[in-house]
Amino acid sequence: MEGLDNGRVAELERENESLRKALEAAEEANQAKSRFLSNMSHDIRTPMNAIMGMTSIGLSHIDEKARVQDCLDKIRTASSHLMSLVNDVLDMSRIDSGRMTLNEERFSLADLVHDLAVIVRPQAVLKKHDLRFEIEGILEEGLVGDPLRLRQVLVNIIGNAVKYTPDGGHIRVRFSQRPDASGLVRLDFVCEDDGIGMSQSFLERIFVPFERVHSNTVNQIEGTGLGMAIVKNLVDSMCGEIQVESQEGVGSRFTVSLPLPAAPGDAAPLPEGASILVAECRDGRAEQIIGCLRERGLRPVRMTAGMEAVTYLTEAQYEDRMPCAMLLGQELSDMPVLEVAAHVRQLTGREFPILLVSEADWAQIEYRAVRAGVSAFVPCPLFASRLLGTLSRLTCGSGENGATGGSRDGDYSRYRVLLVEDNTLNLEIATELLGMTGIQVDTAENGREAVDRFAAAPENYYDIIFMDIQMPVMGGYEAARHIRAMNRPDAGRVWIVAMTANAFVEDMRMSKEAGMNEHVSKPVDLERLQDVLRRRLA
Ligand code: ADP
Repeated sequence: MEGLDNGRVAELERENESLRKALEAAEEANQAKSRFLSNMSHDIRTPMNAIMGMTSIGLSHIDEKARVQDCLDKIRTASSHLMSLVNDVLDMSRIDSGRMTLNEERFSLADLVHDLAVIVRPQAVLKKHDLRFEIEGILEEGLVGDPLRLRQVLVNIIGNAVKYTPDGGHIRVRFSQRPDASGLVRLDFVCEDDGIGMSQSFLERIFVPFERVHSNTVNQIEGTGLGMAIVKNLVDSMCGEIQVESQEGVGSRFTVSLPLPAAPGDAAPLPEGASILVAECRDGRAEQIIGCLRERGLRPVRMTAGMEAVTYLTEAQYEDRMPCAMLLGQELSDMPVLEVAAHVRQLTGREFPILLVSEADWAQIEYRAVRAGVSAFVPCPLFASRLLGTLSRLTCGSGENGATGGSRDGDYSRYRVLLVEDNTLNLEIATELLGMTGIQVDTAENGREAVDRFAAAPENYYDIIFMDIQMPVMGGYEAARHIRAMNRPDAGRVWIVAMTANAFVEDMRMSKEAGMNEHVSKPVDLERLQDVLRRRLA
């Protein structure tokens, strides 16, 4: 360094230091990439191995029904695991490359909580978990954010609670809100389980991609180790905070807190001062319902026993002072709620609105409830907007009945769908799956043909159009736009459902923008199709 002044030497040393740091970072990135590829290769091979192995075993025992059934079950499990791995990896890569954008739209917290319950409950039921959703201090049900990404975060956390809690465990999911200093609403979400928990040293790595606890228990449970990394990235990009507390063998608690702008919706019209019969014996629940009704200027009349309610209605009918509707709760002191519904329906005839406000899984009780005479279902945890919206629809609206006139699974024979798909194998699979539900299926090979078929069909001929997106001649988005723009009354009404391998949240957004009602990602399964049919046709 002779001949160089001190200043120059210091400058060269700084340059050296920064070059060394850049080299270290590049090496670290390179190692991370190699680790990632080797993890990926391993994680993809494991389910692939099961799929290929089980296919060979099934084929070589093709005449043994039970054996083939067992192989198919294992193939289904392995392929669904492979699918979630692919989804997670694609999400990670989008986040990494900065291509993940968040949507800003108005959404309802009530819908979000309801969707979460629908998604995670089946798994919890299988494991006999006591899974509870609670809400507390909700200031604003209408919020602005990216509901699909938010759902992804929360499903991941609750899904893990279900996954890592042994059978019969307890899981509490709680939503609350508080005002935020910046004028936003702070949404606090807590998910608590009494599952296997994690060590303190693992908690430091929980958000690192591919990290999983290495123990016999966890190794038996399928997972990619990517979920929490995605969750952390999403929460960060929503300017939120996430915390995890856990203790091995005791349980875990995840807390997510997000600042979101409020977006109050229009209040549903209701008959001012009308009386509503509330039949519920549990005080807490009854007070909640009564509070919602009073706040909107309605007059609740509470009964705790079924017979008391029936007697009240009998007299009210005689004296011509019938309440506007009846809200049946979860429990009555003397008889099952559906029995009361049946009595009331018999007494009052078809028109009187009977709403069931319950924690029950509607899909499980729908058949019995509708037969008993229930007009509509309001899920719990109870959101005021849900309760008042349903009441408004039944008392002020078209009188359209939310729970009757529907179709049960397997009885769709009087409905017709148009299936639009260019790939022969996919067409065969979808036709077969839809055919299993009994519905009538017409097919079209591309968007143009679908538009022509719809145009040539009489009004209301098709109940649903299942539309592939990437097709020759005309793609699905363009076809949907053409159909929506047609000058015929059913053009805006017919359900158009994207059925596509484009499975990103952005793709779902594009389907929505093209005027489609739903987005079903491929690979399609029977349950998902049945779910769409049930919701459209019921
Ligand atoms: P995975 O696909 O393995 O579930 P995640 O990234 O979602 O990956 O979670 C990383 C790891 O964190 C899991 O493999 C598990 O070891 C641990 N973990 C996450 N949630 C819980 C929980 N509620 N209880 C116990 N362990 C959990």
